[in-house]
Amino acid sequence: NMTEEGKPAPTNPNEDTIFGKILRKEIPATVVYEDEDALAFRDVSPQAPTHVIIIPKVFISQLSKAKPEHERVLGHLLLVAQKVAYNEGLDDGFRIVINDGPKGCQSVYHLHVHLIGGRQLKWPPG
Ligand code: ADP
Repeated sequence: NMTEEGKPAPTNPNEDTIFGKILRKEIPATVVYEDEDALAFRDVSPQAPTHVIIIPKVFISQLSKAKPEHERVLGHLLLVAQKVAYNEGLDDGFRIVINDGPKGCQSVYHLHVHLIGGRQLKWPPG
């Protein structure tokens, strides 16, 4: 499905993605969790009953561009995913996904973790 393929990675990555606008409160989002380092909000096109996007407040365009100095915030995103999963009642399991680059179907170049759950998920993904 072409519509689910990622866009080419930007040649000049900068913070002006739609998620940057959400972070700066320039466009609305349904925020489910926020702290000093991360923001979590509902995906506008949910693929399951729970579909939450978790982003670092620090700009990292994609996982493959993360640096050693991001180790703490990268770990933090997983613990936020754990908290949101608990709050969403996903006690029978859930999935987290990080899409990277065009072949990984990344379309927004601000690193984000998808938290997906609330139904039986299938494996493998496409
Ligand atoms: P893909 O679009 O292939 O899932 P990504 O991994 O880059 O690629 O995910 C971007 C996600 O952001 C998509 O699930 C999309 O529905 C979601 N999204 C895009 N714009 C918004 C928005 N304004 N608010 C919330 N979620 C958004």
